[in-house]
Parts: sequence; C-alpha cells; structure tokens
Amino acid sequence: MPATRLKNLHALSRFDATLGLLALLSIICVLTPKDIVTRKLEIRPSEYQANIAGDSYSGGKSEASWVDEKARRWRCILSDAIYAPYCSFQISTINENWRGLDLRAFNKMTIVGEYLGEANYIRVYLRNRHPRYYVLGDETTTKYNQAEVPIANLRNGVGVRLQDFEVADWWLVQKKIPLKESHPEFNDVIYIEFQTSSALHSGTHEIQIEKIIWQGNYISNETLYRGIALVWAATIFLLLLLRLTRLKAELQSTRNYQNELESINKLLNLQNKQFEDLAKTDQLTGLLNRIGIREPLLAGLNAWKHTQTPMAFVLIDLDYFKMVNDRYGHDVGDQVLRKSAELVRSNVRESDYVARWGGEEFLLMLPDTSLTQAEQIAEMLRSKLETAQIHTATTITASFGVAALKEDNLDNLFKAADDALYKAKQNGRNCVYTNG
Ligand code: GH3
Ligand code: MG
Ligand code: MG
Repeated sequence: MPATRLKNLHALSRFDATLGLLALLSIICVLTPKDIVTRKLEIRPSEYQANIAGDSYSGGKSEASWVDEKARRWRCILSDAIYAPYCSFQISTINENWRGLDLRAFNKMTIVGEYLGEANYIRVYLRNRHPRYYVLGDETTTKYNQAEVPIANLRNGVGVRLQDFEVADWWLVQKKIPLKESHPEFNDVIYIEFQTSSALHSGTHEIQIEKIIWQGNYISNETLYRGIALVWAATIFLLLLLRLTRLKAELQSTRNYQNELESINKLLNLQNKQFEDLAKTDQLTGLLNRIGIREPLLAGLNAWKHTQTPMAFVLIDLDYFKMVNDRYGHDVGDQVLRKSAELVRSNVRESDYVARWGGEEFLLMLPDTSLTQAEQIAEMLRSKLETAQIHTATTITASFGVAALKEDNLDNLFKAADDALYKAKQNGRNCVYTNG
C-alpha cells in the first residue's frame, strides 16, 4: 500500500526533524558562551558612603587619607609599628530600605580601579548580615567573607570567584562562631571593605576603586546539562510513544481493511455462486436447464470412457399437454409442469440429474445406471405420475424414452432416447420405451 508507506515516510521525517532540531538546540546551548545569559550588578564606590581608616585602632601608626574624596581615591602610608599594619577603605552598601546587597545569584566579582604601590594583593571583605550572628548596633558581628585579590592589573579589572571567599579566621575565633556557621554567605552584604594585604610592610599605597561588578549565570552548567538530558529523554520517550500509537493504529486499519476485503470476497463468491446457479437453473421448475446439465453429462461421458461406468438417459414428455393449457389455462399448465418436475426430482437419487429439456420435456440423466435399471426407474416414475393427481380435473401422464450410453457420443445417446420416446408416443403414450 503506497499510501501507508508514504505515511511512514512522513512520520519518519517528522521523527528525524524533531531529533535534528533538538540536537541543534543542544549544540547551541552547550556552545553559547555563558556570559551571554549572564546577570550583572555593577556599583561605583563613588556613589556610596565611604570611610577610610588606618590601624590606630590596633595600636599601629599607619595612616589613611583622601587624595580625592569624591573620586574615592585614597592613600595609605603603612607603618610597620605593629606586627600586621593595615589601612582600610570601606563602603556601605545598605540602601534606604535598610537592605544590603544580595549576591547569591552571582559567582564572579570583578574589581576595576587604580593602584600605585608595591603590593601584589589587596584583601576584600564582603561583610554579610544575618540574624543568626548579626547583633544590631555592633558592626563587627557582620560575617567577614574574605578573599585576597591580585592587584597588579586593577586597571583592566581583576576577578575573583565568590566561591573562593572564605570567612576570616580571626572573626570566627573572636565571635565564637560554631563550625556549621563558618561558610561564606552573601545574602545581605552591607559593607564592602578593601584592606592592604597583611603581607605588606611599610610604604605608600594609592588606591582608587572605580567600580565593582558581579556576574552570574542565569543557569548553571550543571542545571543546563541536566535540563538538556531531561529534554532529550522526554522527547525520545514521547516520539517513541507516538510511533507506537501510530503503528498500532496502522496495524488496526490494515486489519480492518483485510477484514473488509475478506467479507467483500465472501459476498462476491456467494453472488457468483448465485448467478452461476441462476444461469444453470430453470426458473419455472427449479430443475437444471440445458446449460446446467452440460457439466454432469460430460462427467458421465468421461466416467464411461475411463472406467466404463454405465450411464442412462430417460427422456420424459408430458402427454397432451397442449390440451391442459388450452382447457385450464397457461397458469395451470405451469403448475402442472412444476409439480411434475418435483415428482421426478423427489423420486430419483441425489446423484441423478433432472433437467428441463424443452417446454414439457424433461431429461433424466442417471449416472452409474444400466439400461435395465433405467427402464425400471422410468416405469416407476410413469406410474407415480399417473397416480399422483397432479391436477384434480384430469390425469397427467407422460411418455418415457430410455437409452444407455454405448459409444463416445452424447448426441447419439440423446437421439436413441428420443427415438424411444417417439415410439412411446406412437404406441399410445403413458408408457416406457427402451432403445437398447
Ligand atoms: P404430445 O402428447 O404429443 O406430447 O402432445 P402435446 O400437446 O404435449 O405436445 P405439443 O408439443 O404439441 O405441445 C406442447 C405444449 O407445451 C405447447 C406449449 O403451449 C406448451 N408449453 C411449452 N412450454 C410451456 C410452459 O412453459 N408453460 C405452459 N403452461 N405451457 C408450455
Ligand atoms: Mg413435447
Ligand atoms: Mg407433450
């Protein structure tokens, strides 16, 4: 069925197209640089409240001073009066709603600015607030998330990953923070603080932080790959399911089609048989007609030829039938024909054949029957017909001509039976004559 094959092809190409599209999308997703789909937060310290301080609080002599306060450019003269001298620059990122920065959605921090001095690193604190440890009014209770950031390339921006931040040891110790709280947190960063690195000794350092940028992917790689795998699995599952349902439906429709064909075939065969029967049957009597008897005649002839099986003919002609018609009408004549036919049919064997040969003439073909047997059968039929009272007003009789096959010629057999019939007619009718 080309239509089904075409449909399959169609289904196949749709299947392929879906997978192809999915593959393309997956490749695009994997190859797309993540920073295209990156969220970003940028702040400029010049827009925030800022403080600078030396280490006098710790007993040191380092001094911090503004070079350009507006631009948040400051200078630290580091004095090694104490063991770990420092200067610090701190901006307050708390907003008017009293909230700090929520940096949880970011994974990278970039600092852009300018540095003049000998240091290699700058220390960054992202000081976070959480009710679990933060005490209102005591700013030292903010969690000191700390990272040492290389400072050399500050002009072009230096980056640090948020996962590289650690909570400062001294803060954990000082605040007696339990171990389970010792991880960095960035939910509410209220101060960003820059300190000269502890590895430094005396000297002058000039620092200006121009902007701080945080970046984060909307989707992490892990989520992305997990998503792609899930979409693939779901799509293949759905496509297979679709295919299965389609195949099932196709199978069903093929079955239905086959059943339909079968029943049409049966009907046709039946009709064929009916037409065949009709063509071989005489409509008035239901006996075989000349066409119908042809096959049994040939079969009988064959049997005689090959196995010398005898075969006999009895030709039956109703007597004075014209008179029946004339006296009682054609319909009565028909009825007499039907009843006579029925009488003959019902008094011979199943294996015998009765045909309506002409108007009121019947041919009885008796396979495997000798002339003598045929004569007896004819006599039996003659007597039954005579006494059957087929018509109430008159007795219906017939004349019988009997002959048996003697040579490979049906015409001669017929002629012999016809001759015998003629003799029966000649000799008073209602009698049986044999031509043997
Ligand atoms: P015979 O004893 O010599 O055979 O006389 P008959 O009258 O039977 O012979 P004939 O051949 O002269 O008449 C046959 C009649 O059969 C003529 C015709 O009207 C009648 N006949 C033939 N076919 C039919 C039929 O189908 N129906 C009826 N009702 N009559 C038929
Ligand atoms: Mg006749
Ligand atoms: Mg007649």
